[in-house]
Amino acid sequence: MSLATTANPVLNETDVAVIGAGAVGMFQVFQLGLQGLQAHLIDALPHLGGQCAELYPHKPIYDIPGIKACTGAELIERLREQMAPFAPTLHLGQQVQSLQQQEDGRWLLGTSTGTNLLAKAVVIAAGVGSFVPKTLKMDGIEALVGASVHYHPANLEALSLQGQHVLVHGGDEPAVQAAIDVLQYQPASVTLMHRREVFAAPQALLEQLQAHKEAGRIQVLAAQPLSLQAQATQLQSVQVSLPDASTQILPVQQWLVFQGISPKLGPVAEWGLELVKKQLPVDTGTFVTEAPGIYAVGDINIYPGKRKLLLCGFHEATLAGFSIAEYLTDKPVLLQYTTTSTRLHALLGVAP
Ligand SMILES: Cc1cc2nc3c(=O)[nH]c(=O)nc-3n(C[C@H](O)[C@H](O)[C@H](O)COP(=O)(O)OP(=O)(O)OC[C@H]3O[C@@H](n4cnc5c(N)ncnc54)[C@H](O)[C@@H]3O)c2cc1C
Repeated sequence: MSLATTANPVLNETDVAVIGAGAVGMFQVFQLGLQGLQAHLIDALPHLGGQCAELYPHKPIYDIPGIKACTGAELIERLREQMAPFAPTLHLGQQVQSLQQQEDGRWLLGTSTGTNLLAKAVVIAAGVGSFVPKTLKMDGIEALVGASVHYHPANLEALSLQGQHVLVHGGDEPAVQAAIDVLQYQPASVTLMHRREVFAAPQALLEQLQAHKEAGRIQVLAAQPLSLQAQATQLQSVQVSLPDASTQILPVQQWLVFQGISPKLGPVAEWGLELVKKQLPVDTGTFVTEAPGIYAVGDINIYPGKRKLLLCGFHEATLAGFSIAEYLTDKPVLLQYTTTSTRLHALLGVAP
């Protein structure tokens, strides 16, 4: 299966732009595909899955129809496979910042990495907002971000870690995993720092960490950062406070910060759409917002009786798919079953 991914193209044109690659945005791509519509899918996170992937990847979900139990990560993998026949173009690791209607009626989206996307219709599947890394408050740190301070880096290979003193900072699985992964880039040293020497990670990963610690490849430190020393954008050292209230200066050239990721409504609130309790009111027959051509599905929308559940989001995405097809063709769309429709079989690439 191949899903096209674009890093920073100049201008993309598509039928529908789906903002948010959580479970509901992914199912929206599938439903649009059944309507013969091409979609681009954009997310601030560097990966698919929204809340399911970010907040409960290893916890079981028991109320997906027909699936007795599956974890958040398993559900996202199934949704990825399901939308694959429609080959959406993915724009990950970029936040949609602007949304403006053009003279021809289409919508121009601009992202934080400079991607421009022109779409005939837009589905906002933004959940509870963009997932963005929590940042550290410390004098002088902002000038270093991207150069020698990195918040939840998605790609360690893109960082210059060889021969460097690397500080990995966090207490959860991503921090533990990163500390272990950094070793393959031959750093001068790796320190895994957390306020307590207790890490929330799967047992197998903790056993790997213990082995690297005992072999002297990773230093594990219970400490909190106090201040930093840098020259221009190059970090040189970090002063930390230890549990006994003493301080220590660590030589650090690359600081990988994993303090968690949290959702922020962000730009959605600035697009001139009516918000009720930070959610977008929609028509429950079509899931269109007050702006013709802009739809909202999943946790971001609100209507009488709304429940923030996956099943409700999937229903909303289904009706939005029909509605968008009718909006774009100006013709009623007939219901067809995936079991019996040869047209849908052709779209899905399956034998009847
Ligand atoms: C701990 C927990 C357990 C849960 N268990 C269940 C359960 O058992 N059953 C159930 O039905 N539901 C459950 N839920 C609720 C369910 O997870 C949500 O209803 C569902 O994930 C909503 O999906 P979504 O696609 O609408 O939003 P999200 O999953 O939040 O995805 C939205 C995506 O949009 C992105 N985004 C937002 N704004 C922008 C922007 N401007 N630019 C780019 N990207 C943007 C975000 O980064 C995010 O990835 C649970 C929720 C939690 C927190």
